[in-house]
Amino acid sequence: MHMNHNITIPGLQGVRVLHTDEREGVVHLQVVVPRKRSRCPACGVWTRRVHDYRWQRVQHTAWFERPTVLHYRRRRYVCPCGKRFAEANPLVDRYQRHSREWNQALGLRLVTGKNFTDTARQFSTSVTTALRRFDELASRTLPHVEQLPRVIAVDEYKGDTNAGKYQLLVADGATGRPVDILPDRKKETLKQYLQQKGGQVEVVVMDMSAPFHQAARRALNRPIIVADRFHVHRHVYWALERVRRRVQHTLSSYHRKRCKRLKHVFTKKAEDLTAQQVKIRDQYLAGSEELRTAYELKEAFRAWFERSKRRMTTGQAGAIRDDLYAFYRQVEASGCPDMAQAAATVRRWQTEILNSFTFDYHNGTVEGLNNQTKVIKRNAFGFQRYDRLRAKVLLHHQYKWSLAG
Ligand SMILES: [Zn+2]
Repeated sequence: MHMNHNITIPGLQGVRVLHTDEREGVVHLQVVVPRKRSRCPACGVWTRRVHDYRWQRVQHTAWFERPTVLHYRRRRYVCPCGKRFAEANPLVDRYQRHSREWNQALGLRLVTGKNFTDTARQFSTSVTTALRRFDELASRTLPHVEQLPRVIAVDEYKGDTNAGKYQLLVADGATGRPVDILPDRKKETLKQYLQQKGGQVEVVVMDMSAPFHQAARRALNRPIIVADRFHVHRHVYWALERVRRRVQHTLSSYHRKRCKRLKHVFTKKAEDLTAQQVKIRDQYLAGSEELRTAYELKEAFRAWFERSKRRMTTGQAGAIRDDLYAFYRQVEASGCPDMAQAAATVRRWQTEILNSFTFDYHNGTVEGLNNQTKVIKRNAFGFQRYDRLRAKVLLHHQYKWSLAG
């Protein structure tokens, strides 16, 4: 089919399409760039004299979902000085077999897409090529971290890369934006990283991890460490679960199974239970003093937590702390060893936990990032390599943030 010269095709602006053709599901476009006065790269003289034409085959982005090949009739000019030179063109860089448009679209897709295998298929190229493009893109565009921001949050996740089973995500604690991913979660790795880049760091948000705590204390100058308050809960819930399992064990086979199946009734917020769930809960709590005590302590801790969140904005740090002391006393009086253990952990991290209410930082955003990272990992071929997973996560977020504004 011969085409009207005036049609402008996205991605082919400034190019004239001479002919289109579809063969075996592949679109072939013959294209040429209009002849124009061009400057000789050797002597600077302007010329319009054509030396010759050569066909160059260039893979382009899919057109109406069909793989598309450009047959570019590439012109060479010749200068009176004798120099022959290729015309300037918006389509393809020198020595490339893919158009610029294709490279850009592929790059975007490699960053935002789920995995490399699907992307390679969409672009009718091999996975090896896709991986090579991705690595080039990463080395060209990944931001280099010089100095960490004033507030950082660290959280580990299971990346299962060649660098280690766990990786450590470092984010800007104020915005949640990912800053870096460390190859492993070793204390020494984090310590060295913070020594190098943590000159401006004042606040570090983390879960209750002793190695991270030590790394931050040793590398930084008197940092404010904030224990992520969502992790605090877990210790109290684990204690309740231990008690439930122990009590469950003493029940009849029927109730043992039922109690296990309905364990969420005990961990769920009391005010969110349905009438039926309240009945079940009360039935089991009435049967065991020990379980009832542990349950009440769980609820007492939760009440403290909720009150503290409300008090946070009104600067009642003293009241938050005094209330926590009251919880410790309640645990002591109960004689429940599991809750005593949880309370001891809370006490050990008390300063950092109270900091989370004073400074209102938490790891929620970072955990969200970590969940997204897990999704990337699950979907992806090629992320056994730590450097690639790191690049993918950071570039993906860089892209999202560039859209956000
Ligand atoms: Zn010349």
